[in-house]
Amino acid sequence: MRKQIAAANWKMNLSFQQAEGLLNQLLANPTAPGANQYVVLAVPAPYLHLAKQKTNDAVNMHVAAQNIYSKKSGAFTGETSVEMLQSMGIDYAVIGHSERREYFNEDNTLLGDKVKICLEYNITPIFCCGEALYIREVEGQNDYVTGQLQDSLFDLSADKIKKVVIAYEPIWAIGTGKTATSLQAQQMHAHIRSQIAKSYSPEVADQVSILYGGSVKGANAKEIFTQPDVDGGLVGGASLNAAEFIQIVQALK
Ligand code: PEP
Repeated sequence: MRKQIAAANWKMNLSFQQAEGLLNQLLANPTAPGANQYVVLAVPAPYLHLAKQKTNDAVNMHVAAQNIYSKKSGAFTGETSVEMLQSMGIDYAVIGHSERREYFNEDNTLLGDKVKICLEYNITPIFCCGEALYIREVEGQNDYVTGQLQDSLFDLSADKIKKVVIAYEPIWAIGTGKTATSLQAQQMHAHIRSQIAKSYSPEVADQVSILYGGSVKGANAKEIFTQPDVDGGLVGGASLNAAEFIQIVQALK
């Protein structure tokens, strides 16, 4: 049974006090994820400890780093390692968000290394993929996303790929208010699952959670999440508002 996940990506937002307030609001309102449902909060690195401490006793609630480095430790000033996360009990990390790809030149090879080191340390990578608008305009999205998966993920063993969460995030829908239609989301999620089935097996593909990201809000989450191949969402802007994010959590199927 695939995990259903509502993941918040706070990006580089909120003061420490605001972050604390948002965590308090989320915890005060039982978001009540069901048996196979999970809430993951990807918070800025300076707030990881706070978020972990606050959510320690919350059921099915996890904290994620928004990025990690591909090395275990050493002279890499400014970076966050999986060893550090593991020592704090943080067990998720977002890998390859389109903003990391665009502004920090992270390529598929580096991202493959980041996924591997996460898995080595039992940290669940939420691997982001998705096409820019100019690619969708020429209907190149399936090939483009297939390339991202092949280059970063498909050399993993079957046991390992089952532990990866994939987030399909069409770049043209991130932070733009322009959501993919539920049909567009379902079509791409089915495509991703078919590529996993082709490289591994249908049984393996059926175990990989695939989240949709791109202007998910309380008002559209249900329609998107009820698509058969959509297993939840990765949510940016709307996750900064407790009531809105709780509505999104409640839309998990
Ligand atoms: C994101 O940051 O991953 C994202 C999907 O942002 P937004 O929900 O704001 O489009």
